[in-house]
Amino acid sequence: MKATIAVLSGDGIGPEVTSQAINVLQKIASKHGHDFTFNEAPMGGIAIDQFGDSCPDSTIRTCEQSDAILLGAVGGPKWSDPAAPVRPEQGLLKVRKHFELFANLRPVKTYPVLASHVPLRPEFLDGVDMLFVRELTGGLYFGPRQDQGDGDTAYDTELYTVPEVDRVAHVAFRAAQARRKKVASIDKANVMASSRLWRRTVIKAHEDYPEVELEHVLADAMSMYLITRPASFDVIIASNMFGDILSDEASVLAGSLGMSPSASLGSSKFGLYEPIHGSAPDIAGQGKANPTGTILSTAMLLRYSLGLEAEAQAIEQAVEATLASGARTADIATRGSSYISTTEFAQTVLSNL
Ligand code: NAD
Repeated sequence: MKATIAVLSGDGIGPEVTSQAINVLQKIASKHGHDFTFNEAPMGGIAIDQFGDSCPDSTIRTCEQSDAILLGAVGGPKWSDPAAPVRPEQGLLKVRKHFELFANLRPVKTYPVLASHVPLRPEFLDGVDMLFVRELTGGLYFGPRQDQGDGDTAYDTELYTVPEVDRVAHVAFRAAQARRKKVASIDKANVMASSRLWRRTVIKAHEDYPEVELEHVLADAMSMYLITRPASFDVIIASNMFGDILSDEASVLAGSLGMSPSASLGSSKFGLYEPIHGSAPDIAGQGKANPTGTILSTAMLLRYSLGLEAEAQAIEQAVEATLASGARTADIATRGSSYISTTEFAQTVLSNL
């Protein structure tokens, strides 16, 4: 298969982790007879420095000419003044909006060998394997808002339409069909009108998937269940804000922020793939970044944008074998024991492929 991948490495540890992920994709291409082209484009703080814009039009064009986007991370202290006219994160929102990437998929898995890095007792972690599907382009983060400027009044609005909820609900149900066939839908239907619309739209979409079990869980209760019974969840669907908060809570179960991948999808196969962590300026340039989240994001890219399931699984198995062999970056090393660099860890993944 021939495919073109736009690479937006971004800032901080972004370039360190994306370069390793590209090596993994190149090895997959040579082993399985594919032909992948990588087109790098500026994004985030470095794009502000070069073009005064966190996501210049040339970057959008590079993405438009690609089958998928691989992103590292954006941001850092140099560009973090809240009063600055352009901020690195705006580029990310621009890409999500431009390509209507309305569904954010975040798998959360616990690796038994990393159990000591998770602040829960090991018996709670057995079998944790869930997939968050977060609505990404609507809700509270995009609804009407106002800051009166008098310092006295401000508001944000949770606004959802049936089509917005329906399309992301179908993504969740389809994902559940390929997994353990369970969906938990998160809302606050006891107090919020937008949540009542959310719930009835999810119930309607569920009619097309009778083999999938659906439960409704209030967001506040879910924040407890993620700690008390995380292994009971399969696919979890949530609004933009609830999904943002709860998926970050759940990511702790993977042992380190550096472990988790994500995919942002729209209604076609095109998608944006990135680790869930930020640019980690505190460790940038030190060879301490864990590349696992980005490497696992390439597995999601192969699965969802290119339809290469066997190759995706090969990457996931190579990561598991690497962890099982005892290879550890600094963030997942046991306190006081030795660890290897970003490049050495990625080399071990490559040799396990
Ligand atoms: P962060 O995720 O960058 O870092 C939080 C902590 O986790 C740090 O101690 C960091 O060293 C560690 N960490 C993160 N990724 C790691 C990895 N792969 N391996 C090992 N350790 C890792 O979050 P932050 O410090 O709050 O934010 C730093 C910058 O990143 C900010 O400018 C923020 O706006 C930006 N950010 C960007 C994104 C994105 O690009 N999608 C997401 C979150 C934060």
